[in-house]
Amino acid sequence: MEVRNPATEQIIAVLVPDTKADVAAKWEALQTGQKKWAKRSINDRLACIQRFGELILENKRELAEILTSETGKPLQQSLNEIQGAQNRIDHLEQNAVRWLSDEVLVDSGGTHERIVYEPLGVIGNISAWNFPYNVGYNVFLYALVAGNAVMYKPSEYASLTGKEFEKYLHSAGVPEDVFQCVVGTGAVGQLLLETDLDGYFFTGSYGTGQHIAQTIAAKLKPLQLELGGKDPLYVMDDVANVQQAAINAAEGAFYNNGQSCCAVERIYISQAIYDSFVEAFVAEVRSYTMGDPMRLETFVGPLTRKQQTEVLDAQVADALDKGAILLAGGKAREGTGYFYEPTVLANCDHGMKVMQEESFGPIIGLQKVGSDMEAVELMQDTPYGLTAAVFSGDEVRAMAVLQEMNTGTVYWNCCDRVSPNVPWSGRKSSGLGSTLSSQGIRAFVQPKSYHLRP
Ligand code: NDP
Repeated sequence: MEVRNPATEQIIAVLVPDTKADVAAKWEALQTGQKKWAKRSINDRLACIQRFGELILENKRELAEILTSETGKPLQQSLNEIQGAQNRIDHLEQNAVRWLSDEVLVDSGGTHERIVYEPLGVIGNISAWNFPYNVGYNVFLYALVAGNAVMYKPSEYASLTGKEFEKYLHSAGVPEDVFQCVVGTGAVGQLLLETDLDGYFFTGSYGTGQHIAQTIAAKLKPLQLELGGKDPLYVMDDVANVQQAAINAAEGAFYNNGQSCCAVERIYISQAIYDSFVEAFVAEVRSYTMGDPMRLETFVGPLTRKQQTEVLDAQVADALDKGAILLAGGKAREGTGYFYEPTVLANCDHGMKVMQEESFGPIIGLQKVGSDMEAVELMQDTPYGLTAAVFSGDEVRAMAVLQEMNTGTVYWNCCDRVSPNVPWSGRKSSGLGSTLSSQGIRAFVQPKSYHLRP
């Protein structure tokens, strides 16, 4: 399997995909390893994860360069991701013992009642390429601390990083028969679905997630899906500073080239500030440095996957056809690499794909709204339910909108943000179940209820 640098189009590695026999052998080993791993104390397992975190930080620069070379993520953003994902380890250190320890509910009279949280067993972690540290850690670190073994399938576009996770977990003391990376394309992911794993944790697109849900349904195994979104931002006319609101909104839309599950994908703007917001927004987007992702000053690198160019071109053509105005970008850059110009479309409406379908790239639609009620209706007009944001100087007004959102996460005066303290979950076509928070710790265990009469 060839690994290609999306900035240079050069092949940077050739990997041997796992075969059906490899997956079967790894599963066999993980089943044995998991039983021993589960018998170790939570603190012992946590110590391995802490060591893993230290090793990752000690090798941060090299790991960031690997991530940038295979995904095109600008180097500074790779460094940010690696450093930022460390907060998952801090969260586990501070909370895992509390949420994984036995709970004694009744310890008097003739009956003792207790809950013991047992690991699921060997779980499958099928992951995406856009934030492999963040979305990977949300699953495999939490699963390991809870006493599970993990079969980790990175995206084919982040396989080198996946192999590094395996190397450093083993160096940190996680036994080889407790964490195994399985390399390959979607066909290898399919092999995991055909293996009798004890739980499936998927991060990726709605289409693949739906296929996985249908395949796993017959097994009656725990399943979590972290899927895509079409996340709205509403900028109200009472924001303290329109220019700052535009700068923050643009970052939410264009960070990592818009390839974030919770990227701002459509923006609604109160008509009173529409013109000034659009002007400041376009100026900010035009100021972005696009180019070699290995340079620390680059903000916009190449798309990770060449084929996404077609999706973006189709959304631009459709929007222009239906009356949108192109204010920046609008096409792929000529020459080497999968670069796409940061694209701003104004005068958009909900008849356009750019306001309805996940773009997952450096493109944004702007739409004028006349009232909070109109904004709520438009924000809710989507099959997705990951996040929704409001920028406003008035908390009461912002909360009135956020309470109407059928999404797992809402933001006031921030966006495109994940914290390990609160659950990360999608509603409707954005997913099933939660990672992070106490709920994300408990996602990797099953309760056993003890009724004891001494
Ligand atoms: P895909 O659905 O294309 O792939 C996700 C993973 O599934 C990859 O490892 C892929 O392998 C694998 N896969 C593909 N086909 C199968 C199959 N038949 N059986 C099992 N596994 C399979 O998503 P992307 O990697 O392109 O990720 C982008 C999507 O992920 C976006 O929609 C984004 O919004 C979403 N996402 C959601 C997050 C959230 O927390 N809600 C976080 C990050 C991303 P391969 O890549 O080798 O084909």
